[in-house]
Amino acid sequence: MHIWAVANQKGGVGKTTTVVSLAGLLADAGHRVLMVDLDPHGSLTSYFRFDPDSIEQSAYNLFQVSGKIPTDLPPSLILETGHPNLSLLPSSTALATLERHAQAQGGMGLVISKTLAILWDDYDYVLIDSPPVLGVLMINALAACQQLVIPVQTEFLAIKGLERMVRTLTMINRARKRPVPFLIVPTLFDRRTQASNKSLRSLKDTYEELVWQSVIPVDTKLRDASTAGIAPSALDSSSRGIQAYENLMNSLLDSAG
Ligand code: ADP
Ligand code: MG
Repeated sequence: MHIWAVANQKGGVGKTTTVVSLAGLLADAGHRVLMVDLDPHGSLTSYFRFDPDSIEQSAYNLFQVSGKIPTDLPPSLILETGHPNLSLLPSSTALATLERHAQAQGGMGLVISKTLAILWDDYDYVLIDSPPVLGVLMINALAACQQLVIPVQTEFLAIKGLERMVRTLTMINRARKRPVPFLIVPTLFDRRTQASNKSLRSLKDTYEELVWQSVIPVDTKLRDASTAGIAPSALDSSSRGIQAYENLMNSLLDSAG
């Protein structure tokens, strides 16, 4: 099992789009893929037409039994998406309450790691969508993953926020036996605008080889796919956005060796 997490402390930078696109492409390539929605907003969950306000079993339930090491999961916890290789462990709005109460209890940081350990033989790839808050949920995503993808919108404010994220990661990595490699992925790139070009340049100047060599362009087909609730991988291959995500998938597969 390969576990990739997608995170950034900023919202609206393309995290959920990155999860859906990579997951869809990996599933199309024949891999068994599980998406994990750890964002209390549940955009990934809604994407597949499930309602995070009324969902009965969600990632929230995993945190309720965290005292014990689970050996089994309720089968209804994992939802089917309509794509035979693509499953979803959904979010629910209840997850938001965790950020408030979890600090008090120890051992909360490894709930997702332990859960995925149970599912180790069932999936080839797991993609975790994490919330834009550095709290217990993001810590769970970071602790569980072997590769982190950080989408960064190519505009100045987004790059400023990245400093914090990178500092946090460096701190977490120092405490880990095996540091998590991370890849900064420039998103929503519009080559016609100065803001996009300038900020891409400054991103590369600052973070050098940590920045992916290519970019995810602004692509209205990607935006439309999210409102239509279809996996972006189902878009026709003339979509520049989905082509870019295909390149990103290949870069990530290459670096995993
Ligand atoms: P996050 O999960 O970081 O909040 P989303 O993936 O939900 O960000 O993206 C925010 C909005 O931007 C969504 O409406 C999404 O459809 C749109 N979007 C994301 N990536 C692209 C892109 N490459 N081109 C056009 N729209 C995009
Ligand atoms: Mg999101």
